[in-house]
Amino acid sequence: MASGIYVHVPFCASFCIYCDFYSVKGGSFEGYRDALLEEIVRQRGYFKNGVLPETLYFGGGTPSLLDTSYIEQIASAIKLQFGVSDFKEFTIEVNPDDVFHPDDIARSRRKLDEYRRMGINRISMGVQSFQDEHLRWMNRRHTAVQAVEAFRLLRECGFDNISIDLIFGFAKLTREQWADNISKALELSPEHISCYQMMLEKGSALYALAKKGKYAEPAQEECAWQYAYLQRKLTEAGYEQYEISNFCKEGYQSRHNSNYWERTPYLGLGPAAHSFDGETVRKWNVASVKSYISALREGKYDVICTSERLTDADIFNEQVMLGLRKTAGFSLNTLDSKMLAKVMPALESMLSSGELILERREEAKNHVCAESRTRAERYGHAAGLEVTDGDIIRIPPDKLFVSDGIIERLFIT
Ligand code: SF4
Repeated sequence: MASGIYVHVPFCASFCIYCDFYSVKGGSFEGYRDALLEEIVRQRGYFKNGVLPETLYFGGGTPSLLDTSYIEQIASAIKLQFGVSDFKEFTIEVNPDDVFHPDDIARSRRKLDEYRRMGINRISMGVQSFQDEHLRWMNRRHTAVQAVEAFRLLRECGFDNISIDLIFGFAKLTREQWADNISKALELSPEHISCYQMMLEKGSALYALAKKGKYAEPAQEECAWQYAYLQRKLTEAGYEQYEISNFCKEGYQSRHNSNYWERTPYLGLGPAAHSFDGETVRKWNVASVKSYISALREGKYDVICTSERLTDADIFNEQVMLGLRKTAGFSLNTLDSKMLAKVMPALESMLSSGELILERREEAKNHVCAESRTRAERYGHAAGLEVTDGDIIRIPPDKLFVSDGIIERLFIT
């Protein structure tokens, strides 16, 4: 069974206007590292039944702020405690300004060479935009040129699996600028592109501005246009959309993030990191660097970790929510049949309207558009009905922008 380890690095040099992730400016990197090394030892028995983690992901926050020697120590401790010699995918999130210093290219190169030497084989770079005015407004620290130079340097240093992030759906972004961002991203030809719509997240600076009447979100029709344009341009360029926000060249899906959508076990380490045992238990660490460090120093780990056992309804809702995020969808046969029967009227109505598609496994695999099937006896044995010619359910590409509304209608409340 696939599984992965996530390390949360909760430090940023400055805060982006739209972000509400748990992160602090500065702080004790050393204390954090020591606490993390302690947590790794405590969690070494997390995966059961001989499951070995296949992916390691340093996310944040800004992992590229950490000294490479700290990253290496943490990765080595994880390998040792979990009995892994190498990870199939070892990703680090980086900000362009941390990996490309125009005044000291040799230092930048050294850092990237060290990343490679310690086994990092995938880079996820937060580009967000190729328009300097937007980068400044977002309070990003890099410029568009720096992002391009950082990408080129990553390539020169041998990274052949690079993902870049872009943001759309904010008031200042015109259609021409969005088209330009996409075209500049495609010129770089990364293996993977993640695109997120800017949202008003409670706790972000943008949210506060909006509350004061100093920012208004663009119309949803405009955001929908930008999303559809993105889908069209990336598909034309040979990228496959495999999840609502993620596109890749063939064979370059993020294995680590796919674990989340497949509900396989993962362990989150560090302040505010979340874990899932692959069955019924989710747990998360306190969102405080200070409390995290002192608890681990004093051997009081239980104080900063909270866990929750999922109910049958929680599990059903998660399966629906995560399964429908994937463009390939998921099998209705994996759902509890009694609960599925409860949402059957909503499901049937959305199959009729074309908001959902039901198809056979081979059709889903080949992404052949199957006609919507509306008859209950075609839903497979999941619903306790006769077995049939289709059990894979998915949201068609042109409805992915409104996927939240579709998914919610299938929730058990
Ligand atoms: S987007 Fe990334 S770099 Fe910006 S504040 Fe959030 S975590 Fe930090």
